[in-house]
Amino acid sequence: MPQVPDVPLDGLYGDLIINHYRNPRHRRSVPDPDVEAEEFNPFCGDRVVVQLKLDDSGCVSQVSASTEGCSIIHASASMMAEALSGKTLDELEALAEHFRSMMQGRTPGDMAEGGLGDLESLKVVRQYPVRIKCALLPWTALEEGIDYYRSSQARDQ
Ligand code: ZN
Repeated sequence: MPQVPDVPLDGLYGDLIINHYRNPRHRRSVPDPDVEAEEFNPFCGDRVVVQLKLDDSGCVSQVSASTEGCSIIHASASMMAEALSGKTLDELEALAEHFRSMMQGRTPGDMAEGGLGDLESLKVVRQYPVRIKCALLPWTALEEGIDYYRSSQARDQ
């Protein structure tokens, strides 16, 4: 088994990650979700199930992100879940893209960073490329769930 390097969690960013890891938000499952997807990363045993309920105007009214695995997936899913309420699916996709750019270091300078709240603390994970996937897994599930929801809506029309 390859040893997965542990991300040292200290300082302000580390405190935020530990806080979400120890007290994950929105773990309770959503009854009859509109959007639902599951992702698995065998490398460190991470699993995430993301569920969303939408209101009549297409905004997220309930969120669930339940996880198994390492500290980073717990923290990332919890922070993501907190960021989703009240947003439209288009806004969620923009947020996912923004977060992915940050994690992959594609944001030019600090220009477009900001606006991600607690999620910015996950920047420390960039120093550990194998763990970036842990941070992105909930977002991959979110995007897959949205794609699936959109294609099933299109089929129903
Ligand atoms: Zn992981």
